[in-house]
Amino acid sequence: MLAAPDRTPRSRPARPAPHAAPSASGSDKRAESADRRQLARDLRSAAAQGGFLLHYQPRMHLATARPAGAEALIRWPHRRRGLISPAMFIPLAEESGAINPIGGWVLAEACRTAAASPGGIVSVNVSPRQLRDGVLLAQVGTALALSGLDPARLELELTESMLLDITADMLMALAALRDNGVGLALDDFGTGFASLAMLRRLPLSTLKLDRSLIRNLPEDTEDAAIVAAAIATGHALGLTVVAEGIETEAQRCHLSAIGCDEGQGFLFSPPLAQAEWLACAAAARPAIAA
Ligand code: C2E
Ligand code: MG
Ligand code: MG
Repeated sequence: MLAAPDRTPRSRPARPAPHAAPSASGSDKRAESADRRQLARDLRSAAAQGGFLLHYQPRMHLATARPAGAEALIRWPHRRRGLISPAMFIPLAEESGAINPIGGWVLAEACRTAAASPGGIVSVNVSPRQLRDGVLLAQVGTALALSGLDPARLELELTESMLLDITADMLMALAALRDNGVGLALDDFGTGFASLAMLRRLPLSTLKLDRSLIRNLPEDTEDAAIVAAAIATGHALGLTVVAEGIETEAQRCHLSAIGCDEGQGFLFSPPLAQAEWLACAAAARPAIAA
């Protein structure tokens, strides 16, 4: 490793004055890490006390505009900081291991809600640690047994990074889930490292195209070409293709015209509180149950 050159003059060693205030960046960093430690403590107690919520974002069939189900998205209502986004606390939970009990709770709660709704898929985001630590299979089994949900109505969303250093045991766990009828989606496809060979090797049922690929449709011809190729690849492998982050009617029209199966995004609905989702699913009962 290269050492940074020492530029301190030898004759007059630079020493901080005894009562000098710490530098702004130093005190900022200390405040930030104290804040993170406090958040990690709060996270552990929220995990122990069931202090999370799930919101549900509808997924729509693009050809018929009928709901296909919903994705469960975790929320943390913090007593001082308000609703904290998963992008902020999931990495912290993964570092500390708190993600395993949190992930188990998410599965149980999402399956319970789906069993109370008239039909459709519930998709649940899974952390790499749940798979790597060998807890996923048991968590899914418990969630399905307690809720009585048909396994075919549950889909697990896996991320590309999770699959990079996948072991034989992890592959076997995924195959066992598929054999039991649970769906497996590759989430955020197009942002990471998933190769076409990986798509073939994994027992997937669904491909979710990342919203960064959808954002500039239909005008961006390169993105449009990539999306069309990804849909064709997904279909050639027998997968359902879902576009994430659809915000405009032009995007919906384009994706529907090129054969994308399902879509999700603010154009249809933001993530909804559980009661709102159940009301929405009940109102769409004949369509969603079909
Ligand atoms: P994701 O699984 O890709 O979820 C989609 C994210 O995009 C959600 O953010 C959703 O609110 C947002 N979104 C949906 N439609 C639109 C749109 O039209 N435009 C834009 N700009 N955004 C849209 P959210 O809920 O903040 O979740 C962020 C990420 O946190 C998720 O990305 C997922 O990776 C992770 N996450 C969420 N819930 C869980 C969970 O229960 N367990 C684990 N391990 N991760 C979770
Ligand atoms: Mg997801
Ligand atoms: Mg996604």
